[in-house]
Amino acid sequence: MKDSQARTIYLKDYQAPDYLVDHTDLSFELDPHATLVKSRLKIRRNPAVAQANETLPPLWLDGVDLELLSVSVNGELLPVQRYEQRAGGLSVSIDTPEFELEVETRIAPEANTSLEGLYLSNGMYCTQCEAEGFRKITFYPDRPDVMSVFTTTIIAPATYPVLLSNGNKLDSGITEDGRLSVTWEDPFAKPSYLFALVAGDLQHVEDSFTTCSGREVKLQLFTEARNIGKCAHAMTSLKHSMRWDEEVYGREYDLDIFMIVAVDHFNMGAMENKGLNIFNSACVLASPETATDAAFQRIESIVAHEYFHNWSGNRVTCRDWFQLSLKEGFTVFRDAEFSADMNSRAVKRIEDVTLLRTSQFAEDAGPMSHPVRPDSYMEISNFYTLTVYEKGAEVVRMIHTIMGPEAFRRGSDLYFDRHDGCAVTCEDFVAAMEDANGADLKQFRRWYSQAGTPVLDVEDGYDEALGEYSLTIRQQTPETPGQKDKLPLHIPVTIGLLAEDGRPLPLDASGQTEAVLHLTEASQTFTFSGIASRPLPSLLRGFSAPVKLRYDYSSAQLQFLMQHDTDSFNRWDACQRLSLNSLQSLQQQYRAGEALQQPTALIEGYAAVLDDETLDPALVAKMLALPSAQELAEQGGEIDAAAIIVARTFARDAIAAALAERFLSRYRALEQHKPYSPTAEDIAERSLKNTCLSYLCAAGSAEALALAKVQFERGENMTDAAAALAALVEFGTEAQAEEFLEAFYQQWQQDTQVVETWFGLQSGSAKYGTLERVQKLIAHPAFEVKNPNKVRAVIAGYTMRNFTQFHREDGTGYIFLADQVIALDKLNPQIAARLVTPLTRWKKYRAQESAQIHAALQKISDSGELSRDLYEVVSKSLEQD
Ligand code: ZN
Repeated sequence: MKDSQARTIYLKDYQAPDYLVDHTDLSFELDPHATLVKSRLKIRRNPAVAQANETLPPLWLDGVDLELLSVSVNGELLPVQRYEQRAGGLSVSIDTPEFELEVETRIAPEANTSLEGLYLSNGMYCTQCEAEGFRKITFYPDRPDVMSVFTTTIIAPATYPVLLSNGNKLDSGITEDGRLSVTWEDPFAKPSYLFALVAGDLQHVEDSFTTCSGREVKLQLFTEARNIGKCAHAMTSLKHSMRWDEEVYGREYDLDIFMIVAVDHFNMGAMENKGLNIFNSACVLASPETATDAAFQRIESIVAHEYFHNWSGNRVTCRDWFQLSLKEGFTVFRDAEFSADMNSRAVKRIEDVTLLRTSQFAEDAGPMSHPVRPDSYMEISNFYTLTVYEKGAEVVRMIHTIMGPEAFRRGSDLYFDRHDGCAVTCEDFVAAMEDANGADLKQFRRWYSQAGTPVLDVEDGYDEALGEYSLTIRQQTPETPGQKDKLPLHIPVTIGLLAEDGRPLPLDASGQTEAVLHLTEASQTFTFSGIASRPLPSLLRGFSAPVKLRYDYSSAQLQFLMQHDTDSFNRWDACQRLSLNSLQSLQQQYRAGEALQQPTALIEGYAAVLDDETLDPALVAKMLALPSAQELAEQGGEIDAAAIIVARTFARDAIAAALAERFLSRYRALEQHKPYSPTAEDIAERSLKNTCLSYLCAAGSAEALALAKVQFERGENMTDAAAALAALVEFGTEAQAEEFLEAFYQQWQQDTQVVETWFGLQSGSAKYGTLERVQKLIAHPAFEVKNPNKVRAVIAGYTMRNFTQFHREDGTGYIFLADQVIALDKLNPQIAARLVTPLTRWKKYRAQESAQIHAALQKISDSGELSRDLYEVVSKSLEQD
């Protein structure tokens, strides 16, 4: 395995830039094969690092895959001896501390399949510059601590009537040769990663928003003409976000215009470019007929996320990429709170915690484990991770929990105030929280530097004579690559105590029934007095810290919590524990070669949940969802894929059979037949209804499948249609599956987003989604290897969301993934490096699977030269040997 330029970058080596750029003036003459980019930069020596009577250091400009045409300083063409082109950039010798630099380069957007820099998507030009994509557009100090005002002129043939960039439109006209020319100016200094340009034949919808100070902001959403009917939900979400950020954080929007553009080819969800957000179509376009409830909610949260970046990311940005969580962790926390306020708080929390437990915990326990603020990387694109985003958001949430909402708001006000217009660090964020409140977060800071998921072991004791109840909590964080010894963290543990009759007990003289315990030692005991009889603890309420908590609950105690806990999240969590316990016993029985026992406690628990009409149906649906195979794999110990699959299928079928009548009556009661609306209440009803439908079909009766067929054919909205189709594909006969899939495709083949759903339904189906079928899907005319959404739907659908088929015994699932990764790496390294994730976990599996997965990884390694992205992941994974 080789990589042409493998090098590791360390946080400890950070140095402030030698030169600053005060103004950046760009001009683009667009052409698919030869786009001419001219840049004129006003540059000066950085006073913070300048010395008296110094010799000026050379100016370093990053640049990748660029054809350099000319370099001038102060209007004079620079002789070739004055600059040197090296791998990754250009070094220019400098003889004056303040000067104007002009550089001309040529690039070929059409040949750019990495979707980084300037590229084409369905004939539309667009850019993606975070983290280091700007250097694929022109030579520039492409680092976030160089902030500049930008002016951008775009020149394109008249077939590209819409020409957009950041900020306000200054000017537009027609060139002598009949091309369109538009100039934009962004008055807010920004790093190059927030630059954006779009050119295409686009339609738009328009709206406006009046800010809290009475300014009118124009809102525009651009898409290809065929999608213009799918913009309403994103527009509403945008207005809600703008209002929410004023109300909750006191943050007002700053420019007079805010634009969103939808593009089909995009590596991530969306990008917060100043005033011109660029979105993956799948994360912005929706209509009731074509998008599921999950898509509606995802769109709302991503629109909010990118909008919130205007303050947490753009106005205050990151000094260097090690600080990525400064903007991402904080912004994920902000968007999660927004979604919680707009919808059901408990359900949002459950979804986020599920993602954390299934995927972030796995990352934290694998070869790429890194702290929320990493201290080294080879390729920064590999660090847009669940740890930086989701665990980073949990870290901000813990500050919120520790300080309380008012103090947190004082801290965020100070942070924005102090650092507006600056590029800062995670340390600056924590310091603002402290300084605004006279608080001490010294120990808490370890959350930023220490990787791995802490494990809490809880034991309790009750002294009847004294009326005292005590909780002893021990914390321990496992070793992770490069970090052997871990220090105790400051962990907020929110708890309550339940009396025998289920009522919440007062925890102190003030009568509070909930408390935040501050665990700061390796082991600590917390005592509560005036407790008349032995209580049942409700621990880590609302998942107050991203940890694994162990406490030996009996099934009866869990069922009690499911019914009586005042914390909705913990009611769900009790049900999760009950499910996990049952599934673990089933796995043990399977491994011991015993006959599998009926999971009685689980069935009783589920029955009680289904009978409780007072519970939010969305919460019921979440409670009745068995932990995924991926989540079961994360429970510790060696992963036995077969045992997981057998246990899960057995439990599901047992529940389906035992509770069939209840599922049917709830299903009937929840049928809506009213116009679709993505409100929390309606989404809740549909989610429970479709959970019931899935269990009904799992039990396999012809009547159940007939219900699914009716629901599918009625097709009132995509949520119901897709759920019915999924049930038919998973539980119907093969002939039925094929018939309905074909009908669905015939109906929706013109719609990109629905075709992605259709792909995902097949590749992710435990029964239908075999390797052979997935290979057929790759050959399907609607599959496009250069489109990451299609790759994610078909390939990752199989390798990441179809545990059963991917882990087929002959190991060919793993080799298939290796081959796909090798091929993709040539086109799009970022996607290849993400796709390889399931193979990085080889060490956790039973000997046979482990060897097979390792061999697949080795195959990639032996395949020749890898991109830096893929090289980093593969080499670190193999190093576990
Ligand atoms: Zn973000």
